[in-house]
Amino acid sequence: MPRSLSNSTHCNLSRTFFYDLYMGVSPAHSIVLSFEDARRAVERQAAQVQAPAPEQVDLLSAVGRVLAEPVFADRDLPPFPRSARDGYALRAADLSRLPASLKVVGEIKAGARPEEIPSHIAPGQAASIMTGAPVPTGADAVVMVEHTTLRPSTRGDVVEIAGSVAAGANVVPRGAEARQGSQLLDRGLRLNDAAIALAATVGKSGLNVYQRPRVALLATGDELVEIGAAPGPTQIRNSNSYSLAVQVREAGGEPVLLPIAPDERQALRRLIEEGLQSDLLLITGGVSVGRYDLVEQVLSEMHAEFFFTGAQIQPGRPVVSGRCGSRGAGAPARETATEKPGTYFFGLPGNPVSTMVTFALFARPMLEALAGQSPRKLTFLHARLKSEIRVKPGLRRFLPAIISGEFDNAEVERVAWQGSGDIAATALANCYVVIPPAREHIAAGEWVAVMPR
Ligand code: AMP
Ligand code: MG
Repeated sequence: MPRSLSNSTHCNLSRTFFYDLYMGVSPAHSIVLSFEDARRAVERQAAQVQAPAPEQVDLLSAVGRVLAEPVFADRDLPPFPRSARDGYALRAADLSRLPASLKVVGEIKAGARPEEIPSHIAPGQAASIMTGAPVPTGADAVVMVEHTTLRPSTRGDVVEIAGSVAAGANVVPRGAEARQGSQLLDRGLRLNDAAIALAATVGKSGLNVYQRPRVALLATGDELVEIGAAPGPTQIRNSNSYSLAVQVREAGGEPVLLPIAPDERQALRRLIEEGLQSDLLLITGGVSVGRYDLVEQVLSEMHAEFFFTGAQIQPGRPVVSGRCGSRGAGAPARETATEKPGTYFFGLPGNPVSTMVTFALFARPMLEALAGQSPRKLTFLHARLKSEIRVKPGLRRFLPAIISGEFDNAEVERVAWQGSGDIAATALANCYVVIPPAREHIAAGEWVAVMPR
């Protein structure tokens, strides 16, 4: 079910670099951007897409989905002043002289009914209290049981306290976490364990979430066969559609695998047109400079607008990003009120590692936006490099690596690979080491940026 885009502007001529970068052009010339500019170009487009239609699902099915309704507090949180410790509820002022002896006037369990709670703690009194139990009126602090000694006596128990506490210690006041009616979760949030717990706290057994966008996956290449077929001696199996299907699912989309497209104009165009019926089209292969790399040409013939046709990264340099109308008309000038203004597409380089990296860097934020998720910036973790790395400068590199070590001693090491076609080496990797374009040599022991995978 296609979704419409809120804003679309088309142009064929590049007036300024900024205009080219953000509004898109036909690639009469190539548009190769730095990694950061390419990422921002996608983010800028992603900010314009509309959220999908919502659907109701039960609470546990909502994990990993994107929230389509705000969630409010149905009562104050906590709903009563809550003790954060096992100990004694008392008046902090009674501990101005130490040690203090206070008369124990009751015991309050978690879940104690109102009639089981001492009505008031007067000066010189304390009530034994458990974590999660309501603090009675009059008391303004809880002293941890570890700092007390109970002295039973026939005239009633007395508790001796050796240390003082400030007023408010170990008491969470009613409504301190949230006031009744206040918003706890916003639309666009990807629901994780804490968000589901919060929804449970306010009594939600089901949630409105956005429908998953459909993402068409189109592998191109005469050398490719489907995984069920027996490959000839010079053929290989299509694996990119499968890595992408996994990445699409993880990012909140519904993958739609199209048949493999040959390196032939007409057949490729028909399959691209089919893919543009989905909410997002991901094409792999056929985007570099070889004679049979036809993806960009076919999209140009379809009047697609291009945001970039390359990024200064490795692997993945020939990555293409743009938008195209589903009936071959990219020009929103031809739009009618009922016609879809265009589907975003990415042409990802066919080398399996390039495909995975460029999805993570560029296609993912667009997919998340189409899934209704609020935008988030790409941030990297950091670890110490185990063995030195030497590369040619000029490109930002994302090299398959293994992060290991324990606690504060995260270490990272490249996996030995045969280049961006080496899927076997990459299957061993749990992250990418990110090398800035200016660096040629990074010594062992240096802190480096890491992108998990
Ligand atoms: P291309 O980007 O079309 O020049 O392809 C680059 C390399 O990736 C070539 O070695 C292709 O055989 C390989 N390749 C392209 N598409 C796929 C795919 N779907 N699955 C596995 N390998 C692929
Ligand atoms: Mg190819």
